[in-house]
Amino acid sequence: MNELVPFWINGARHSARSTRTGEVTNPAIGRVVRRVALADPADVDVAVRAASAAFSDWSSTPPLRRSRVLARFKELIEEHRDELARLITEEHGKTLPDAQGEVQRGLEVVEFASGVPHLQKGEHAEDVGRGIDCHSRLQAIGVCTGITPFNFPVMVPCWMFPVAIACGNTFVLKPSEKDPSASMRMAELLKEAGLPDGVFNVVHGDKVAVDALLAHPMVKAVSFVGSTPIAKYVYETAARNGKRVQALGGAKNHAVVMPDADLDFAADAIAGAGYGSAGERCMAISAVVAVGDIGDALVKKIASIGAGYKVASGDTPGADMGPLISKVHRDKVKGYVDSGESEGATLALDGRKLSVPGGEQGYFLGPTLFDHVSPEMSIYRDEIFGPVLSVVRVNTLEEAIALVNRNEFGNGTAIFTASGGAARKFQNEIEVGMVGVNVPIPVPMAFFSFGGWKQSLLGDLHVHGMEGVCFYTRTKVITERWPSAAIPASTARSTVMPTHG
Ligand code: NAD
Repeated sequence: MNELVPFWINGARHSARSTRTGEVTNPAIGRVVRRVALADPADVDVAVRAASAAFSDWSSTPPLRRSRVLARFKELIEEHRDELARLITEEHGKTLPDAQGEVQRGLEVVEFASGVPHLQKGEHAEDVGRGIDCHSRLQAIGVCTGITPFNFPVMVPCWMFPVAIACGNTFVLKPSEKDPSASMRMAELLKEAGLPDGVFNVVHGDKVAVDALLAHPMVKAVSFVGSTPIAKYVYETAARNGKRVQALGGAKNHAVVMPDADLDFAADAIAGAGYGSAGERCMAISAVVAVGDIGDALVKKIASIGAGYKVASGDTPGADMGPLISKVHRDKVKGYVDSGESEGATLALDGRKLSVPGGEQGYFLGPTLFDHVSPEMSIYRDEIFGPVLSVVRVNTLEEAIALVNRNEFGNGTAIFTASGGAARKFQNEIEVGMVGVNVPIPVPMAFFSFGGWKQSLLGDLHVHGMEGVCFYTRTKVITERWPSAAIPASTARSTVMPTHG
C-alpha cells in the first residue's frame, strides 16, 4: 500500500475530507511510489480559513522578525538540500545535480525575501504643503495563493511564498499533484524555522482545488505558473472574482546563433539548455535560429554532443538527462518527433531509438534534433516541453529578430555572437522578457524579477525581485497635518480642491 501525501494546514499534516486521490509516479521506473490526496472545496476552505485566521497576527509582526524566520528557513534548506533534491529526482525524474541546482535557485529567493524589510519601507516627503507631510506604506494583502507546475517543485513555489510571507501575507500553496512531496518537506522546515501555524499551508489537487481557490472570497491574490491555456483560464477567472493575479504561461525559447559566434561554446550551451532536465524547463531552448552560413557546422556539433549525453535514471552518477514526467507526456513528445519527420524536417538526431538499460518501464526519450524546420511546422509552432531542438535557418539578424518577435511566446531568448553591435540590436529590438547574450538560460537572479512577455505571462507584475514585493503588497499613501499655533490650518475655503504647494 502506497503512502498517502496529506495536506499541511495550521502547522501540521492534515487528512483530507475528500476521498479522491492521485498517483505519484517515479518516471525513471514507471512505478507509483505514493498517492496524493486531491482536495475538494471543503478541504480548500479549511486551508484558506486557517491562513485567514493567521493573517492579523503575522501581518502585525515586526518585519524584521518575519525576515529572521526566513533567514532560519534558508539555513534549513541548505542543511536539507540533498534530501529535497532526492525528493525532486524521485518524483520528477531530473538528475540529482540538476535538482540540487533547482533547490539553490529557490533558496536564493528565500535569501532575497529575508531582506524584504528594506524594500517594504515606503517613501516619505516632508512639507508637501505648509505643515503637511506625506508617506506611503506597502501593506500586506491577506491570504495569497500559489498554483505551481510539475517541472520545478521547489524553485517555482519559492518564487512566490517567501516574498509573500516576508511582506506579511499568509499563503496557501497548491503544488503540482505530480510531485507534491517537496512542498510538504518545505512546510515542515518552515515550521522548524519558527513560522507560526497557519501562515503557510499546502493543499494538493487538480482543477477542483484550483477552482475552489479562485472562487474563495478570502483569497486576495493568485500567483500561477503553468501552461498557457491554464494560465489564461486562471487569469480570467481570478480577475473576474476580483483578485489580484499574475499567471505565467508556456514558452518557445529561441537561441539565435550568429556566424561569428564561438561555435563550440554555442553548441555546448544550446545542447545543455535544450536537453537538460529532458527539455522540461520553461526557459529551455527549443528553437535554434542559425544565421548565415553557420547552420551545417552547428547542427553537426549539437547532434554529436546530444548523442554523447548519458540518459538514465536521475540518481545514476554521471547522468546528463533523466526521463520525462509521465508516459502520456513522453508519448506526446514522441508524436511531435513523428510529425516533424512527416512534415519534412531533417532528422539529425533521433531520440526515439534510445534504450536505457534497466529503464525499460521508464518514460525516456533521447535528445532529438531537427534541421531545416520551417515556422509552419507543428514542431516549431507548439511548446513541446521535451528534449527536441528545431533548427530554423535564416540569412540575417533582422530576419532572426522578426522570427522571434512573430512567435506568440516571449519567455526567454539568447543570442550567441562575438559582436557587441549585434548583441545590442538584439537586446533593444527583441520582444521577450528575459534575454541572454552568450548565456543560454537567462533566468534572472532573485533580486531581479522573473517573467516573460506576450503569451508567456498574463498580468502586469513578474515574480520575485521588486515586482514580487509590489505584487504582494498594496500601497497606502498618508497625507497628514497637525495644525498648531506655529502652523495654522489653511484658511482657504474647504469646498475648493485642496492644493498644498
Ligand atoms: P499545467 O498547466 O498542466 O499545470 C499547472 C498547475 O495548474 C498545476 O498545479 C495543475 O494542477 C493545475 N491545473 C492543471 N490543469 C488545470 C485545469 N484544467 N484547471 C485548473 N488548474 C489546472 O502545467 P504543467 O504541465 O504542470 O507544467 C508545465 C508547463 O508550465 C509548461 O507549459 C511550462 O512552460 C510552464 N512553466 C512556465 C514557467 C514560466 O515561468 N513561465 C515556469 C515553469 C513552467
